Amino acid sequence: MNDLKTRARQSLNAIHAAQLYRHLRTLQSSNGVRLQIADRAYIQFASNDYLGLSHHPKVKAAAIEATRRFGAGSSASRLVSGTLLPHEKLESRLAHFKGSEAALAFSSGYQTAMGVLTSLLSERDVVFSDRLNHACLIDGMRLSRANIKIFEHNDMGHLEKLLRETSRTSIRLIVTESVFSMDGDFAPLQKIVELKQRYDAWIMLDEAHATGLFGERRNGRAAEAGLDDQIDIAMGTLGKALGAAGGFVCGSFELCQFLINRARTFIFSTAPPPAVVAAASEAITIIASPEGKRLTECLRLRIAQLRSRLNLPGPDSSPIIPFHIGSEKRAIEIAAQLAQRHLLVPAIRYPSVPKNHAQLRITLSAQHRPEQIDCLAKALEEIV
Ligand SMILES: *Cc1c(COP(=O)(O)O)cnc(C)c1O
Repeated sequence: MNDLKTRARQSLNAIHAAQLYRHLRTLQSSNGVRLQIADRAYIQFASNDYLGLSHHPKVKAAAIEATRRFGAGSSASRLVSGTLLPHEKLESRLAHFKGSEAALAFSSGYQTAMGVLTSLLSERDVVFSDRLNHACLIDGMRLSRANIKIFEHNDMGHLEKLLRETSRTSIRLIVTESVFSMDGDFAPLQKIVELKQRYDAWIMLDEAHATGLFGERRNGRAAEAGLDDQIDIAMGTLGKALGAAGGFVCGSFELCQFLINRARTFIFSTAPPPAVVAAASEAITIIASPEGKRLTECLRLRIAQLRSRLNLPGPDSSPIIPFHIGSEKRAIEIAAQLAQRHLLVPAIRYPSVPKNHAQLRITLSAQHRPEQIDCLAKALEEIV
């Protein structure tokens, strides 16, 4: 009865029956956009490496050089003996890039959110969370034991109502994403900042899908809107447009020193390896250069091309284009039909989105060729 295998098998049967079963696929090779699975070639529309930097020769060279000089691993937590020159360099580059006083790197975006929220909040505090926030934000809030108030997605009237109902004496933190991870839509940052000011709250903004892509300096949507000095805690990942791995926080010197002393995911985890830290540093340099500008312009062209081919309304610069299907079974079927045509588009299902809200999540890269976008548009027209 208490057999672990039996217990897992029972759960898996239920997951299967609900069309929610997931499995891992091993890529034999990948150059970013083109990849091979089981001796079959595919063009993928599934990666968050929006600029193709994980395969950039300079980014790869930086990773190799850091490994040569500092080793494959960091050997300890940052506080013990793990802080190496590449960590310090990355953090000063991040602070300069984001225009903040200080920055702190973590081993992943997930750990960043968990570390910040659990160290900063306690049961006396109130956190206001968009309904569609990422799992790492939700888990961090839950573990912090703060009082969680969920506002409907991007619903500023609802957020204001919840803020109005909350005592002014408690710490109030608004948590949202600047570009939402599944639908690619944008948070209304101007309005959120107005509410923060009116109700004396703080803002934590997750720029995971905006860092490297938005704004004159490509350092995020808050900067693009001229609101970066209003964001108390800016976080992001080094694993998406930056093409490496890890996460970061940008904010005041005091915030970063506090996190070094209190964030458990920072204190009790081995520092990120020199290779990925150096790769992220190099990626930031490229993004801030004219080459970064060219890459984002190229990505915009591809987005505009697909949106116009699919007759999607309005100009939109999001690299995430959701195709809402609803039924899990249907979404899997469509993804399989696309795969027969050598096109890899993931069918996103619960728990990444609510049940019966399955979707195809198309992500574009500056490395896609116009013919590849045409090919996807044609296949979608014929299949869906
Ligand atoms: C991917 C993602 C994260 C997690 O970042 P990792 O570095 O992959 O752990 C956090 N927030 C959002 C919105 C994300 O999409």
